[in-house]
Amino acid sequence: MDTVLISEVGPRDGLQSVKATMATAHKHAWIDALAGAGLREIEVGSFVPAKLLPQMADIADVVRHAMTQPGITVMALVPNLRGAETAIVTGLHKITIPVSASEAHSLANVRKTCAQMLDEVRRIVDLRRAQAPQVLVEVGMSTAFGCTLQGAVPEDDVVRLAEALAEAGVDEIGLSDTTGMAQPAQVRRLFQRVRAAIGERTGAAHMHNTRGLGLANCLAAYDVGVRTFDSSQGGLGGCPYAPGASGNVVTEDLVFMFEAMGVHTGVDLEKLVAARTVLAAGLPGEPLYGMTPGAGLTKDFVYADGRTPLDTRLLSTSGACA
Ligand code: ZN
Repeated sequence: MDTVLISEVGPRDGLQSVKATMATAHKHAWIDALAGAGLREIEVGSFVPAKLLPQMADIADVVRHAMTQPGITVMALVPNLRGAETAIVTGLHKITIPVSASEAHSLANVRKTCAQMLDEVRRIVDLRRAQAPQVLVEVGMSTAFGCTLQGAVPEDDVVRLAEALAEAGVDEIGLSDTTGMAQPAQVRRLFQRVRAAIGERTGAAHMHNTRGLGLANCLAAYDVGVRTFDSSQGGLGGCPYAPGASGNVVTEDLVFMFEAMGVHTGVDLEKLVAARTVLAAGLPGEPLYGMTPGAGLTKDFVYADGRTPLDTRLLSTSGACA
C-alpha cells in the first residue's frame, strides 16, 4: 500500500493569512481535532515578533500544547536565527524556514537577498547541530514556480538553491507555489530536476489553489515521487489575488483524492470533516473551502487500508446532477 504524509499547515499558513486572531484555547482545540483525525504532521504557527503577526503571539504556548498529542510531528515556521533560538527551547520536533527562489520576493518578504537567507539557514543548521540535534530542519522554497514581483523564476535558480540548501545540511527541501502560478507539467519537471540534484532530501509539495490547479499539481508531484503534501483544512487563508478562491490546497479534498486512489494517508475523513466545526467556532465568519465536505463521500467509498466509513451521514445522499 502506497503511503503519503499530509502535512497540515492551517494553524500557521491559514491563521496568519486571515485578519482575525484565533484565541489560544480555540487553537488548542483545533489542533487536537486535527491530530484526532489522524494528521501526523502539523505546522502549528510561526516564531515571529508579535508586533509583526499578532495572530502568532501565543506560538510557544500552542507548541507546548501540541506536544502533548502523542504521535504527531509538531512543526513551526522560523524566518531567522532568532526565531529558531526561541523555537528549539520549546522542544518542538521540526522547524521550517521559508527561503525564496526569487530575489524580489526574498527582499519583500524577509528583507534579505537569497544569498543572505542562505547564510541565515547555515547559522540555523549550526545552532541545531550544537543545541538540538534531534530537531529536523526543513526549507520550504517560496516562489519556486513563479513570482508576482519578479515574474518567471528560472528553473536553474531553483535547482541551484536546492543544492546549496542540501549542502548546508537542511534535511528536507520542499517546493512552494506561493503565488499560485504552477501548472502540472512544470511541477513534474521541476520536482524531477530537484530530485535528480538532491535525491531523498527532496521534500514537500506546497501547492496553492489560486487558479484551481491545487489538486492537479499535487497529483503531478505524486506521479514523480513526492510523498509529502502541505495543505490546510478548509483551504484556510484565502488568496488576496483571487477573491473567492482558496489559498492552500484543501486538506479534505486532498485526503479524499488519495484515499479514493488507494493511497494511504492515515486520515479519517469523517473526523476531519467534523474538525471543520471546531475551526469555524474559533474563526466565526471566515469562509471555509472544499468540495468533499459538501458533496460527501461516494456510496462505495473505501479507505486505502480497507476500512469503510462508520458515519453514514458523510455518505452522499444527493441524486444525479445534470
Ligand atoms: Zn501556503
